[in-house]
Amino acid sequence: MLSRLQLTAIRDQLDSLLDEAGRKELSLRETLYFLCEREIARKDERRIQMGLSIAHFPRVATLEGFDFAAQPSLDARQIRDLAASRWIAHGENLLFLGPPGVGKTHLAIALGREAILAGYSTLFVTAPALLAALAKAHGEGRLEEKLAHFAKPKLLIVDELGYLPFEANAAHLFFQLISRRYERGSLLITSNRTVGEWGVVFGDAIAATAILDRLLHHSYVVTIRGESYRLKEKRRAGVLPRQHSGSTDSVSVHQPA
Ligand code: ADP
Ligand code: MG
Repeated sequence: MLSRLQLTAIRDQLDSLLDEAGRKELSLRETLYFLCEREIARKDERRIQMGLSIAHFPRVATLEGFDFAAQPSLDARQIRDLAASRWIAHGENLLFLGPPGVGKTHLAIALGREAILAGYSTLFVTAPALLAALAKAHGEGRLEEKLAHFAKPKLLIVDELGYLPFEANAAHLFFQLISRRYERGSLLITSNRTVGEWGVVFGDAIAATAILDRLLHHSYVVTIRGESYRLKEKRRAGVLPRQHSGSTDSVSVHQPA
């Protein structure tokens, strides 16, 4: 019966759970509670494992593993607040902008992880991979299917927008995806370009304006300035010469409009 009800944690550990309940002298009601608790814990663990595997994160990165001291101007409280995933519940967007190596991808993965823990389906993709997939599907007459695929997760993380310029027509495909997700799901985008440079990245000023209009409507923009974390580590270790750049580290956070 436990198998039929898919109460597999209780099924697999029934003897030891009942022994434990006996040792603790739990009442019938407490025992039932205890068994349910174990079943839910197992189901949550499975759900999180599954969520992490379908998110396709390129590596493991956590908020605990982020050294806020190394990025002193980044508002740790603001990031922890974003990690509570309320912006995802509200379908808002988040942009991490800044030069290479300052931790944009690290934070994107870490916040994606928190989103999964909070129960939101999440998918990570790099901008070039996303655009290549859309262009390929378009060529094969399966664009609709691909758009649905990328529109489905509650949080879509698009990493490294702007490292490569868009191919012809890519801006239109990206615009279709943005429209599809608009006010339905959240986007987390990382870019080494300022929003003002996106017209150049997209190779299409009109599409860029339309994309930004939807993207920025409900969004947080976190601009990280400063030096690459890896270079900073090397400098600290004495491999590279020290640099005096006290005032270049800063961060600006805009509340949603
Ligand atoms: P970006 O995406 O901005 O180019 P990454 O997130 O890939 O930068 O960061 C480069 C490397 O440095 C990664 O291995 C990342 O985990 C690490 N890193 C960057 N900033 C921090 C930080 N503040 N604390 C810990 N690790 C960091
Ligand atoms: Mg990156």
